[in-house]
Amino acid sequence: MPEMYKTTCCYCGVGCGVIVHQQRDGKIWVEGDKEHPVNKGMLCSKGMNLHYTVMDTTDRLLYPEIRYSKYGPRQRAGWDEALNRVAAVFTAIIQRFGPDAVAFYASGQCLTEEYYVVNKLIKGFIGSNNIDTNSRLCMSSAVAAYKMSLGEDIVPGCYDDIELTDCIFIAGANPAWCHPILWRRIEAAKAANPNLVIIVSDPRVTQTCALATLHLQVTPGTDIVLHHAIGRLLIEQGCIDPVFIRDHTEGIEPYRQAVMQRTLAEAALICGIEEAAITQAAHYIGNTDKLMTMWTMGLNQSAIGVHKNLSLINLHLITGTIGKPGCGPFSLTGQPNAMGGREVGGLSNLLPAHRDLLNAQHREEVQQFWGGTTLSDKPGLTATQMFEALNSGRLKAIWIMGTNPLVSLPDVRMAEAALNKATFVVVQEVSNKPETLAYADVVLPAAAWTEKEGTMTNAERRISYLPQLTQPPGEALPDAEIICRFARKMGYAGFDYPCMEDIYKEHARLTAGTHINISSLSYDVIRRHRTIQWPYNGEMEQPGTRRLFEDHRFYTASGRARIHAFGDENQSEPVSPEYPLILTTGRIRDHWHTMSKTGKVNKLKQHIPSPFLEMHPEDAAERDIEQDAIVEITNRLGNVRVKVKLTESIKKGLVFLPMHWGKLFNNDSSRANNLTHVLLDPVSKQPDFKFSAVQVTRYYKP
Ligand code: SF4
Repeated sequence: MPEMYKTTCCYCGVGCGVIVHQQRDGKIWVEGDKEHPVNKGMLCSKGMNLHYTVMDTTDRLLYPEIRYSKYGPRQRAGWDEALNRVAAVFTAIIQRFGPDAVAFYASGQCLTEEYYVVNKLIKGFIGSNNIDTNSRLCMSSAVAAYKMSLGEDIVPGCYDDIELTDCIFIAGANPAWCHPILWRRIEAAKAANPNLVIIVSDPRVTQTCALATLHLQVTPGTDIVLHHAIGRLLIEQGCIDPVFIRDHTEGIEPYRQAVMQRTLAEAALICGIEEAAITQAAHYIGNTDKLMTMWTMGLNQSAIGVHKNLSLINLHLITGTIGKPGCGPFSLTGQPNAMGGREVGGLSNLLPAHRDLLNAQHREEVQQFWGGTTLSDKPGLTATQMFEALNSGRLKAIWIMGTNPLVSLPDVRMAEAALNKATFVVVQEVSNKPETLAYADVVLPAAAWTEKEGTMTNAERRISYLPQLTQPPGEALPDAEIICRFARKMGYAGFDYPCMEDIYKEHARLTAGTHINISSLSYDVIRRHRTIQWPYNGEMEQPGTRRLFEDHRFYTASGRARIHAFGDENQSEPVSPEYPLILTTGRIRDHWHTMSKTGKVNKLKQHIPSPFLEMHPEDAAERDIEQDAIVEITNRLGNVRVKVKLTESIKKGLVFLPMHWGKLFNNDSSRANNLTHVLLDPVSKQPDFKFSAVQVTRYYKP
């Protein structure tokens, strides 16, 4: 009889339950878990093909490798030899240049336990806050906005609100392709309730628009103008909740003044849509007491990402649609464990359990708990800052864990130059494909999904347990094990955990007394309930907390949610006669990030087999570009050459390029991030991936 195990999909932040069937010959296949509260048996195309990524080990890194000279070959080494070498080089660099001369760059795909130990290692023992992850590229604007408005980085609602709401406003997101199982729940909710209003704001007509009651095809960069215009109409038409505003918020007057700055006509002109469309959106939002908003990269990946987030959250705070069934702001997480990474404090400005690095008492609590070195009060380098610091020589060594920055970072040629310049690069990876390996001085082979044990937290605060089901190939080890072995080589105490659950328990103990509080949660309890939404107080009938702020007491100092007021100017590099088009980048349905997993699966490659540029036919005609021509996209950073796909579903003046393809799956010339800027939101430090001024010319006629 084949064996059957329950686990969780390792792709996106929806967090679907997966049943893995393992045959006697070791082969595995997967199906959706019908009892799982998130997906109720459904899986999307990526989830259905998960087993191929595990069974195909042809691309796996099997042994540690060391490169002894800058341009020499990498040579197989034993674990002791490889980690001794890393420890010797890290020690020498730290002694000579100080702890801030080294950094760790991790991934939202790491398990919580892995995040925890690497964060503890660098902050608590090496004495630097130079740890950041690729979650900085996707979620940090939402993190900052939640803290500023609600007093805590917290998603207040749950997926079950989808079946209870009357109106969903989806802004800058395409869940039909990027969060497919969540989307199927929205489709089912719409089928059950034809009166469910779905408003979509997106400069492209995506698959998500197929179900939209109203599509607002806004000009990129104008989201705040739109949200403010809706806010103004809600105030003018008396569609706000004055009692909620009076009793549970602060900041309404400055907000009122800010949204009155533009007339409806001005806002419509800037957004590039009809006044009537904004009025209609305000009508829908103003006439429901069950409003959900959902957003992702369209708002987050912007030089004004935090304000974009806040402008949407403000609509909830003026209408009182938060902390109630069917209500609330809901940022859709891209990666499977971006939330877990934040819980353990795995960003350069955080401490465990959402403690604040700049708070002396918080630093003291954590330092006492870990018993290591005094925690630095200097915020560490964020994702892009690490690569800039390598280029400037301020940072000497970087350890990259489970992420592929040479496809995913903005201005990726700058990142390439940085790795070339680095004194020492460690790459801890599953696959032998990522471009980063070409720059590695030491390569450490890591275990993949099903080959290691741990936990993850999805977008609705739901913690899942992932068992180890299969053995890693060769000498690959779980990421947490690699970090702990290295820490011991460095001579640090507190990294000799007998098992993975002991790491989890230590992390859980640190959450006691915080808003996350899972201090009484064990692997056993999670396994028994299948999943648990934090916080969890151990005496609950429900498995965890579905919804927060039901008492309308927020986590700010005053207990009131903060309505923020600010201007609406876009801070992206403006278009110009030389670069008159706006480039936006994003995902397609069947690929994930830089394709190191989905690129192995033939079925997934068939959906869209090669990179393309989406362009409006009128923009193409002005440039004598025909369907399927090879075009060159240029700006002051670089160029990209791909086939053009003409479509009226994209707004005139805008072009769209998928972000997945890099050198390995195509070539350097199709890498979208050759063209994106290291222009950061000033608060979240999230890059402006969604707005780059470019020109497009015909390169080759079909
Ligand atoms: Fe996996 Fe996300 Fe698809 Fe669910 S929606 S199966 S979590 S990729």
